Amino acid sequence: AKAQGGNCYHFYSAEMNSGVSQRLSLETGLRYALERNEFLLHYQPQVDLRSGKIIGMEALLRWQHPERGLISPVEFIPLLEETGLIIPVGEWVLRTACAQNNAWLAAGLPRMRMAVNLSAHQFRQSNLTDVVCLALEDSGLEPELLELEVTESIMIHDLQTTLVTLNQLHVIGIQISIDDFGTGYSSLSYLKRLPISKIKIDQSFVRDICDDPDDAAIADAVISLGHSLKMQVIAEGVETVEQLDYLRAHGCDEFQGYYFSRPVPAEAFAALVHEQTAI
Ligand code: C2E
Ligand code: CA
Ligand code: CA
Ligand code: CA
Repeated sequence: AKAQGGNCYHFYSAEMNSGVSQRLSLETGLRYALERNEFLLHYQPQVDLRSGKIIGMEALLRWQHPERGLISPVEFIPLLEETGLIIPVGEWVLRTACAQNNAWLAAGLPRMRMAVNLSAHQFRQSNLTDVVCLALEDSGLEPELLELEVTESIMIHDLQTTLVTLNQLHVIGIQISIDDFGTGYSSLSYLKRLPISKIKIDQSFVRDICDDPDDAAIADAVISLGHSLKMQVIAEGVETVEQLDYLRAHGCDEFQGYYFSRPVPAEAFAALVHEQTAI
């Protein structure tokens, strides 16, 4: 450092410095967040085209920071990935989501599938299948009521290993879906080789689906591709009735988005389900 000379520091502006220190303090906070019980899950309903009912939910991670309040995962998931903390935190998410779904079932709520996001880092863990099995065993949840959302990025690395892992999970009875479909590394040939039961149309294609013919064409193509491969297709980021009508008319099977509900805490989610069954 000495060899670089004494005047390097003037490159660091005050703004950059506060950015770096804010990042560092977030990182330190993240190291303790798990043991301090600061993580929580919100749940967002997934609605079935035919019945119009909630048939599942996606678990979404939140961080209740002692000073900064509720922090969005887009702010801290990248940090969790860089530090490797995504492994223990991801396991906590999986265990909490499985336990919650089984608790709802025991409380008399209808059977619903719990979708959990898996980062590519988690996917590359050699003992992923064991971690998932243990979460199912300890919670008592049936494997069929768990869905794992992965992104196309898991295909970048060794496809053979990916195939083996996905097959192990599939044999157990767990559903696999491809998240943010169409935004990442895409080789369509992998789709037919992998045991995938659902693809999620990314919200970037849904946003302008009624005004942008290109987005509409992409959504149409994803729906027909999914159906030709005997997969379910779900659209995320559905905010308006117009988007819903378009997707419904084009045969999309399931919907998720603010139009139905934002991601909400567990109690509020249970209330949403009660509301629809009370009719
Ligand atoms: P994602 O998996 O694509 O999740 C969907 C995101 O879209 C969520 O953001 C959700 O709140 C938001 N969303 C849902 N409906 C709408 C809508 O109608 N309009 C708009 N504009 N947005 C909508 P959130 O909860 O902030 O999560 C952001 C991302 O963080 C997730 O994107 C996912 O990549 C990651 N993430 C969240 N929880 C976990 C987790 O437990 N593990 C991992 N590995 N990643 C997670
Ligand atoms: Ca997701
Ligand atoms: Ca997504
Ligand atoms: Ca996304």
